[in-house]
Amino acid sequence: MIDEFSLSSITIATPEKVLSNASITVTQGKIKDFSKSSEKDYQFDKSSILFPAIINAHDHLFGTYYPKVGTGTYICWLPWDYDLKSSPVYEERNRNTPFEIYLIGAYKNLISGVTTVHDHIPHHINEPYIDKLPVRVLKDYTLAHEASVYDLKWGDGIDVEHRRAVQKNVPFVTHIEEGFDRESMRGIDVLEDYKALSEHTVLIHGIGFSDDDIKTIAKRKANFVWCPGSNMYMFAKTARIKEIIDAGINVSVGTDSPASGELNILHEIRFAKKIYNEMYGKDLEDKMIVRMITVNPAKAFRVQDRLGSLEKNKIGDMLIIDGEKKDPYASLVNADFKDISLVFRAGMPMYGDKRYEHIFKDFGQEYSHITVDGGEKLIVGDPQTLMETVRKNAGYKKELPFLPI
Ligand SMILES: [Zn+2]
Repeated sequence: MIDEFSLSSITIATPEKVLSNASITVTQGKIKDFSKSSEKDYQFDKSSILFPAIINAHDHLFGTYYPKVGTGTYICWLPWDYDLKSSPVYEERNRNTPFEIYLIGAYKNLISGVTTVHDHIPHHINEPYIDKLPVRVLKDYTLAHEASVYDLKWGDGIDVEHRRAVQKNVPFVTHIEEGFDRESMRGIDVLEDYKALSEHTVLIHGIGFSDDDIKTIAKRKANFVWCPGSNMYMFAKTARIKEIIDAGINVSVGTDSPASGELNILHEIRFAKKIYNEMYGKDLEDKMIVRMITVNPAKAFRVQDRLGSLEKNKIGDMLIIDGEKKDPYASLVNADFKDISLVFRAGMPMYGDKRYEHIFKDFGQEYSHITVDGGEKLIVGDPQTLMETVRKNAGYKKELPFLPI
């Protein structure tokens, strides 16, 4: 075990600012300072860039499987859900235990640089698994499935769940206006009627938002999570993201499950950049995108005192990528599997290049060797054996492209 260590000669994107040739010291899992103040120091090369580890603001870990399901453009999420649950892919997925699926979902996130996930699902479903996963799954939230008459009835009702969120100072999370039928598009009005729109509210999807909806959300200081990959796949349309950003709403990016969304958060942010450009003929700034997977979700999920940025006393959740130090933000937005070179969760190495094996050894971390997309990597636990189980359960050599091992 190592109590205190420094990482030095590294570019640090906090992400508010960029520090060149910098150092950071972590003590007992938390950031101590930005100097080389520990005797245990690890030097990096000039292409290494340190970010806060990524927060995936919207996933359904129990839905982690492949390929995507669906037949075309839907009016709302409900007919897609019927297609999902009657598909051969769904049947094949369910040959795995819930814990196996949760583990696959956790590894999908970890190898894309994510250490914190919001798994939008009732507590009684994910509670048995989340403490055994290699990523942190946020535990403190209340929820609804959606604000419509045909939603999946998660939680104790919108008004009760939102009130509970305010009392406990945790987020209230719900899908919203994920469709274009009249019922879907009443979503924000329904939340207003229940007085469930506040700074505690985290709204997912919002592809049906009107101008008035956007104004109301901004006025109530509610948070928004954008899942452009999932939206475009199911509806060939996504939320009016420029209008939402321009209204001053706190925006995060989430993957949704790979049953409809992009493969992982890295693919999702690249897709976000591309779709924004197609919709508006302008570039969504890379720094803004990096905020959407770090500080913004930390604020939305009310963990900004612990996570989402590199600051003194915050948890040492850190991501090192191989990139171009002249433009760290673009490097992260363009990163892929091979560029994720080291991931720490609470000051412990969780995943990284084989060249960092000495760090895993120093920390006494238990790890296995895997090949990810052709690169030799080290990872906590044993996803290789997990994949063998998945293949045995499927009855053929199943490939999961978000876990290319
Ligand atoms: Zn969702």
